[in-house]
Amino acid sequence: MKMSNFTYDWPLVGNQQITEFLEKSIQNNNISGTYIFNGPDNLGKTTLAKSFASALLCSAKESGSGRLPCGQCRSCHQFKQSEIAADKGAVQAEIGEGHGDFHVIKKEKDKKNISVEQIREFIRVLSMSSFLGGYKIGIIKHADSLSVNAANALLKTLEEPRPKVVIILIAEDMESLPATIASRARVLQFRSVPTDTIYEYLINEHKASRSQAKDLSRLALGRPALAVKFFENKDTYTFYQEQVNVFLDFKNQTIGERFLSIESLLGKKTTGQEAVRIAGRVLQVWQGALRDLLLMEYGFFNIIQHQITKEKLDALKPLFSLTDIFRLFKAIEAAEENIFYNVNPKLALEEVAVKV
Ligand SMILES: [Zn+2]
Repeated sequence: MKMSNFTYDWPLVGNQQITEFLEKSIQNNNISGTYIFNGPDNLGKTTLAKSFASALLCSAKESGSGRLPCGQCRSCHQFKQSEIAADKGAVQAEIGEGHGDFHVIKKEKDKKNISVEQIREFIRVLSMSSFLGGYKIGIIKHADSLSVNAANALLKTLEEPRPKVVIILIAEDMESLPATIASRARVLQFRSVPTDTIYEYLINEHKASRSQAKDLSRLALGRPALAVKFFENKDTYTFYQEQVNVFLDFKNQTIGERFLSIESLLGKKTTGQEAVRIAGRVLQVWQGALRDLLLMEYGFFNIIQHQITKEKLDALKPLFSLTDIFRLFKAIEAAEENIFYNVNPKLALEEVAVKV
């Protein structure tokens, strides 16, 4: 068999072992029917999955050499179209408008699960024959939130794999996927990326200044896509800062003032899945601020996450005893659990606020 000789430009920072594995799979023509891309959010899993899909669908793959994906062939063009449509938020784009052989589904906003109907439609389109005569590829985002019926429907498909159909499940926590699904998939485990790698990446690829790169690479805690979001989107960055400040300011506020700050973080949505999502993020941010206070307690000033609010942290640090810090870690953990068990997210945040 002729050896293939491709060059790649994977859109991934860190996690090199994963791109090496994918390259080898393409090289040896050893493509699995099911993959699970597992790991914390904002590591670039979905972006890489799309890039892998476009490489498999690219017609340059048949020629055995050159850049993959080539960016020139019919498939690559269609891919670009579907990306543009998805950026515009077109509903059809989510099931692959623009590229007949590529489909993405995800948990709908304000829904707790991916439904069995979504999975059935997904399976139906993937089982149709390929438009371009090659692979049919489907991505399931938020795969750890498949409903029980959806997971069962998917499992039936995975048990009878079809040639040239590839399904990529994206998960933050594959523990919540049925083991029967995981056992049929090739699992690729994504890990947090070293701060220095993100720092270099922000400077080299995004032309960030050294001080921006320093702040953002720390803030992102190993998640490059988050660092880029902060860099490119001022609102995301400002909202993050606001969440840290709200937490640190509790110490000097009345209970009434604390509750008002929480309302401003949650906006109008104080119930429903969107509020659950925001409250979950807020608790993670608060945990980060607490971790910084703990690091400062032990003199590790250089590795604190929130360089951006270092002055405020310095000023408030004396007000938090070690006992306070551990008590608050516990309160945050309890709040996370309460939200999981359907306690109103606003109430859960308030319960932490009164303990500061
Ligand atoms: Zn191509």
